[in-house]
Amino acid sequence: MKSQTKVVVIGGGIAGCSTLYHLTQEGWTDVVLVERNELTSGTTWHSAAQVTNFGGNQTMVGLKTHSINLYKELRDDADYPVQYNHGDGGIRLANTEAQMDGYRHFASMARGMGVEFEILDAEECARRHPLISTDNLLGGLWDGNDGDIDPASLCQALARRARKAGAEVYRNTPVTGLTQHKDDSWTVHTEHGDIVCEIVVNACGYRVNEVGAMMGVEHPVTSMEHQYFVTEDIPAIVESDKRMPLLRCPISDYYSRQEKNGLLIGFYEQGCKTWGMDGIDPHFVNALCPDDLDRITDVLEGAFERMPALMEVGIKNVVNGPITYTIDGAPLVGPIPGKRNAFCCIGLRAGLGEGGGHGWLLAQQIVHGEAVYDTWCIDPRRFGEHTNVELTALKAIEDYQNEFRFHFPNEHRPAGRNAKTTPLTPVMAAEGAEFTIVNGWERVDYIKPSADFHHTHTFKFDESFDAVGEEVKAVQTDVGICEVNGFNRFELTGADATNFLDRMSCSTVPRKPGRMGLIYLLNHHGNVKAEATIANIPASDRGPDRVWYGSAAASELHDMDWLQQHIRDDEDVQIKSLTNDQTILIIAGPKARDVLSSVSRGDWSNEAFKFLAVREAYIGIAPATVMRVSFSGETAYELHIPNASLYGAYLSLREAGKAHGMKIFGAKAVDSMRMEMGYLHWKADILTEFDPFETNLNRFIKMDKSDFVGKAALEKKGDPKHLLVSMALDSTDAAAHGGSSVMIDGKVVGTVTSGDWGYRTGLNIAYAFVETAYAAEGTAVEVDVLGKMVPAKVIPAGPYQAQSSR
Ligand SMILES: Cc1cc2nc3c(=O)[nH]c(=O)nc-3n(C[C@H](O)[C@H](O)[C@H](O)COP(=O)(O)OP(=O)(O)OC[C@H]3O[C@@H](n4cnc5c(N)ncnc54)[C@H](O)[C@@H]3O)c2cc1C
Repeated sequence: MKSQTKVVVIGGGIAGCSTLYHLTQEGWTDVVLVERNELTSGTTWHSAAQVTNFGGNQTMVGLKTHSINLYKELRDDADYPVQYNHGDGGIRLANTEAQMDGYRHFASMARGMGVEFEILDAEECARRHPLISTDNLLGGLWDGNDGDIDPASLCQALARRARKAGAEVYRNTPVTGLTQHKDDSWTVHTEHGDIVCEIVVNACGYRVNEVGAMMGVEHPVTSMEHQYFVTEDIPAIVESDKRMPLLRCPISDYYSRQEKNGLLIGFYEQGCKTWGMDGIDPHFVNALCPDDLDRITDVLEGAFERMPALMEVGIKNVVNGPITYTIDGAPLVGPIPGKRNAFCCIGLRAGLGEGGGHGWLLAQQIVHGEAVYDTWCIDPRRFGEHTNVELTALKAIEDYQNEFRFHFPNEHRPAGRNAKTTPLTPVMAAEGAEFTIVNGWERVDYIKPSADFHHTHTFKFDESFDAVGEEVKAVQTDVGICEVNGFNRFELTGADATNFLDRMSCSTVPRKPGRMGLIYLLNHHGNVKAEATIANIPASDRGPDRVWYGSAAASELHDMDWLQQHIRDDEDVQIKSLTNDQTILIIAGPKARDVLSSVSRGDWSNEAFKFLAVREAYIGIAPATVMRVSFSGETAYELHIPNASLYGAYLSLREAGKAHGMKIFGAKAVDSMRMEMGYLHWKADILTEFDPFETNLNRFIKMDKSDFVGKAALEKKGDPKHLLVSMALDSTDAAAHGGSSVMIDGKVVGTVTSGDWGYRTGLNIAYAFVETAYAAEGTAVEVDVLGKMVPAKVIPAGPYQAQSSR
């Protein structure tokens, strides 16, 4: 066994084998995989191993396409052919129009990745799958690439290719400990000796947290028991001249695929069970949990009704094994938060289908710092520090129970709520708030017009449309108040704080005390990594000169890692998170200044407190840091208030607001108004796939600065291939959701990143990255919104800005 190498991948299931193989493909061959038993002896060996192209966003579709192409290549490798039934096709069923709309959206989204799904009616579903009935069926989505693979030979093939390229695989070598050194390198302790390496990768399946504990990390991953059974031969299959397509059923929560001449049926029962939460038997190897068919009777009935042939045959064997889930159902593939030189590929619940793609994207991140696609949807840093074993288990159960029921854009599921609240949460609830969740925080989405008001889950504009419009109107004509909790706020101190930010950003960093500005941070490839509001707060009795770095709630761990990793040894910079200590109240609208003046001493006139000014003050008796910034385009102030004083400040503002018609507004109104202003949303419109010129951030790029992270790469880039544009859609039915394809003459020319109704402009606005040839204002395009080609036109960014001098 080597005593020194570049990367040690721990775990020899699909996650580890794929990562190892792809590291060699990216050019790193001094890499090893360490497996405690035999390869695939965790979950992988007993997987149903279905391989689909379907995904909820373009990154997932893209990585699954990579899996499929790789698996086809391995199937066709004459030296070591892998058994892969590619192209049986698969149907995702639906019995509601809302689900069908979802499928239409996902089809539009996948088209931009070169993947064509078909939308079928019930009769066509039954024609393609001769065993199903059309009772209680509206139709479905057809994925022609669906199939299944032999998991064991897949992993062997990947390991074999990796070995050929120079990698080494050590089986029966349990990792027993991890030690990190001052230079960020690691020693991996195993039962057969130590290996020193630069980088470690945790790919330990359901033992993820045993290995996590070795580096002091608890990953938000829980295992669930999951069962399938395989039937005896079904005569209709024996007689059929082609294989049965796969089925995934969100109506009764099961899947099926052909296995020999029978069917393999897997279930997602409501009475599901977590597994291994209090520790895992070290001898649970190549093992299964006891069969428990009683648990699945609720969902079994639905499968019988859909496929009556099942009732005629016996069960040949049952498999019940642990499968890992995370808080939002997507895996954790990327850097481990708060650690250096440590990565993971964990929480895979569809690891056979996705594993080829995850290993590919992870290897790219390890070797190049970034992958071809924006990997935020699988980034281990996308949850905040609030994740814990209890929350993870609740969300895992909820997700398992809804396995094939995708999230609607306006759906906020009930498990694990109130993970993060402020003193105003109950106040807002009493005001009738409907809450959305932002990085665990309960944030007001909109105020319900009546106590019994509900919106239905849909991809179209929902019943809250008018209520949100009223909130926007109050902001436009009088004044609105909005609680923005969880906004990420770092305090940077030290003599080099501003110079450090200057080096990190391609923008002008505000240097004057009492001033603030928006900056963009690039990665080393010259693409956009982060967006932050920088505020210079002069020394006061509350502290010395400070710089506040404010960014999206979800960016907390991501941005902290990025900044910390770049502080040089000779730089005097300290970073502290104030995210959980303070909350923002926004007051916005033409009367906002009147409200502020009546609760806070001082001169708040436009001359004394200009746009992009920051000042410490009191709201009544509550200390506040006041910023003159506006997401809405109306006169607005952000009041950053310590949570202990938040309720008092809120009462003062509400009291003062009475005379001015103050109304609460929520996240939906904010989103609508920001789109009318042309403002971007991090990780919807700001992606690592595009540089700041493509992202239409030209006014924030200062190429004449001596140096900044990403400058050299940005200088080498040619003309932009895509541009982020705003568009107005000729539809009052639905917004264009992120991922929708922008089309000209039947050809995809772009992809929508955000869409929303603009109440003040009366426009259905969408942002999209389009090929530069189609980016000129006035260009006529079509956007595939829920299967309809909606005419649209490229318009100037920020259509409200043009009308507003506020
Ligand atoms: C019943 C069932 C059906 C499924 N069906 C499908 C399907 O149809 N399609 C699909 O895509 N997915 C399916 N899955 C999920 C899929 O099987 C998993 O996502 C995948 O196998 C996980 O692979 P992994 O490499 O992450 O974990 P594992 O396969 O568990 O591999 C982890 C490895 O790490 C090793 N390890 C752990 N600790 C240590 C240590 N300390 N030192 C060294 N090595 C260690 C283990 O021994 C193990 O080999 C199914 C799962 C189940 C349970």
